[in-house]
Amino acid sequence: MSEKIELLGLSKEEFAAEVAKLGEKPFRAKQLWQWIYNRGVGNFEEMSNLSKDFRAKLAAGYTITRPKIVTEQISKDKTHKWLLEFADGQRVEMVYIPETDRGAVCISTQVGCAVGCTFCHTGSQKLTRNLTAGEIVGQFMVARDAYHEWPSPSDETRYLSNIVVMGMGEPLHNVDNVFKALKIISDGDGIAISKRRITLSSSGIAPKIPLVASELGVRLAISLHAPNDEIRSRIMPINRKYGIDELMKACQEFQKQASWGKYITFEYLMLKDINDSLDCANQLIKLMKKYKILAKFNLIPFNPWPGCSYEPSPKNKVTAFSVALEKSGYSAPVRVARGQDILAACGQLKSQKIAPKAQD
Ligand code: SAH
Ligand code: SF4
Repeated sequence: MSEKIELLGLSKEEFAAEVAKLGEKPFRAKQLWQWIYNRGVGNFEEMSNLSKDFRAKLAAGYTITRPKIVTEQISKDKTHKWLLEFADGQRVEMVYIPETDRGAVCISTQVGCAVGCTFCHTGSQKLTRNLTAGEIVGQFMVARDAYHEWPSPSDETRYLSNIVVMGMGEPLHNVDNVFKALKIISDGDGIAISKRRITLSSSGIAPKIPLVASELGVRLAISLHAPNDEIRSRIMPINRKYGIDELMKACQEFQKQASWGKYITFEYLMLKDINDSLDCANQLIKLMKKYKILAKFNLIPFNPWPGCSYEPSPKNKVTAFSVALEKSGYSAPVRVARGQDILAACGQLKSQKIAPKAQD
């Protein structure tokens, strides 16, 4: 018997084609899409407005597979972390960071990461594989299950209001699947998270950056972490491939292509005695002015993990750095670390299964 087809992760067009193959009219595809992505139903039997015959054909040839929850933890500050497992046993982590009446789900895009930033727990794990579009969408659906946000509530009343693509992996090393997944997640007939509420964070894969505006249309964050090539190449090996000049030109191109959400958030990890001097802050300001970038900064306190060699920058230096940027007209808040007691903060995510072998 041939294997069943996974419905999660099919584009709307592919999805409609499968329904057509079963001899059903196009409006049936929309109904099925709504059952899965608007109501969160994973069992064909419950889809009461579809005919018995259609449901039987679906059950015989198709599946809707969410990742399995291996463990979940809730931190003192209510940050929620899940360890999720896919069909082949590979695992990733996902985090929900609640504010008072809303919050962001931080999703992963790869098992491990090939970029190998020296300060990042995920990067110490090497790349095992890309996640499929269905696995990326499935993650968010698990979070929605936990907070009972089915059917998709109106935008104003959701706890899971935003998505940050800032979990494990480099999203722009997995463009096809990530873009496909985010198009499904933002589709108005289903999960319906507006693109304005989605932020994709990249370590700076320069040639792919303009596509985030031209093909996807979500917000962009760049993990910059240094104002010059010398420091950046030391802490982020990717900078030897795509240096700061190429990165800034890609950011200019993004801003040209973006019809809204032109501001780019530059994430800047504050590492003691590495990149936290006032001189570095001034170089950053010069850099943004030189390339005329519409920039906001997010200063990130370094979150230590077992075995790392960096230390967080002291509070007074972080404050001085922030003040210098703000004085030049750039927003530069210091990010409050969340979920540290359960290793759920930025850069701390790691799947517990060690990757057997790195891919390209
Ligand atoms: N690969 C993408 C998205 C995932 S990493 C990227 O690098 O942008 C999400 C954010 O966490 C990045 O800004 C990353 O630089 C930051 N980060 C990594 N390690 C960290 C650590 N130990 N403490 C704080 N932030 C960290
Ligand atoms: Fe990969 Fe991002 Fe971690 Fe760098 S910071 S190793 S790009 S996940």
